[in-house]
Amino acid sequence: MKNALILLAGGVGKRFDKTKKSTPKQFKKIGKYNLIEFFLKNLDHKLFGKIQIVVKKHYIKKYLGELKKNFPDHNISFINSGKNRQESSKNGIISLKKYNPKIVLIHDVARPLTSKKLIKKIIKSLKNNIGVSPYTYQNDFIKHSSIISNDKKIMYLQTPQGFRYNEILKAHKIYKNKNFKDDTSLLSSMGLKIKFVKGEKINFKITYKEDFEIYEKLILKNYRHGIGYDIHKFNYNSKKILKLCGVKINYFPLLGHSDADVGYHAICDSILGALSLRDIGYYFNNKNNKWKNMNSEFFIKFCKKQLDIKEYEIVNLDINFICEEPKINKYVVKMKSNISKLLNMDKKNIAIKATTNEKVGFIGKGEAIAAESIVQIKNV
Ligand code: ZN
Repeated sequence: MKNALILLAGGVGKRFDKTKKSTPKQFKKIGKYNLIEFFLKNLDHKLFGKIQIVVKKHYIKKYLGELKKNFPDHNISFINSGKNRQESSKNGIISLKKYNPKIVLIHDVARPLTSKKLIKKIIKSLKNNIGVSPYTYQNDFIKHSSIISNDKKIMYLQTPQGFRYNEILKAHKIYKNKNFKDDTSLLSSMGLKIKFVKGEKINFKITYKEDFEIYEKLILKNYRHGIGYDIHKFNYNSKKILKLCGVKINYFPLLGHSDADVGYHAICDSILGALSLRDIGYYFNNKNNKWKNMNSEFFIKFCKKQLDIKEYEIVNLDINFICEEPKINKYVVKMKSNISKLLNMDKKNIAIKATTNEKVGFIGKGEAIAAESIVQIKNV
């Protein structure tokens, strides 16, 4: 195995709650996820062959009983934590011996907001270094007695810290009875050079209640909305049939460069709008032969991919059809099922409504179908 990850989750959080009566911070949930779950959900698990969570035994059953089931691809194991940080870290490292990893990243679960980018940077940096630690600088002035200095910067070390496995194992064996604050200090004390790479301020450590409140604000806040509209004319001379939101309907088809699925096109534009991207015609130009007669499912899949890239998911989707004929209601269940599969969302969060134009104007005369869509998305 090449890479392993150790997650230190053994703390009782004395600074978080002096009484130690409340749920330890690493298990406190916001929405569906506690800190560990939130971190794992955003982790690129393919980077690691093994994830070892170091935690007090009695916490596993109480808070993490469903974890392996909920993250089946992460190859998670648990190992008992020690009496201090160093011992916990050592327990994790020794437990990995049988997997023979080349490198190991050691991470504190009180930092749930580590980016994929930072993790990759540390792994990459380990190609040429024995140990790698991220750091940040503090913006605030530092006050020493009566001297205020803003040019002498102090480095604040973060995790994950990465190491060549054999080196960190050796260090833990030599210094087994000490209590170093982190693995970087331990390795440095052996005279080994650690590479420091720029960390991320967002990767802050949740220590006090106030930190947890900041985390809560950060992960709950980002809701966005988007609107989409499309219209296509009927083709009364065609032998083909109509398609709306992927459902084939025994009625005259619509004219268009692609398959003219006006419902899917409106949905696409609402998603692209919510992500502050351009309209569907920008990505799939109707002058380009590549998209001729294209199944509009392809465009929806493209939009879903954009959501994934920007790490958003749909909260709800509301679609309106405006036409005299055909009657849409009969097809709503099937349409919802198509949309929910393509966008990986619950059917109960999709609304499909229809209205006529009261015989007014070209839609009222049955010349076209219009569709509009509104979507709400949130960061995952
Ligand atoms: Zn269209």
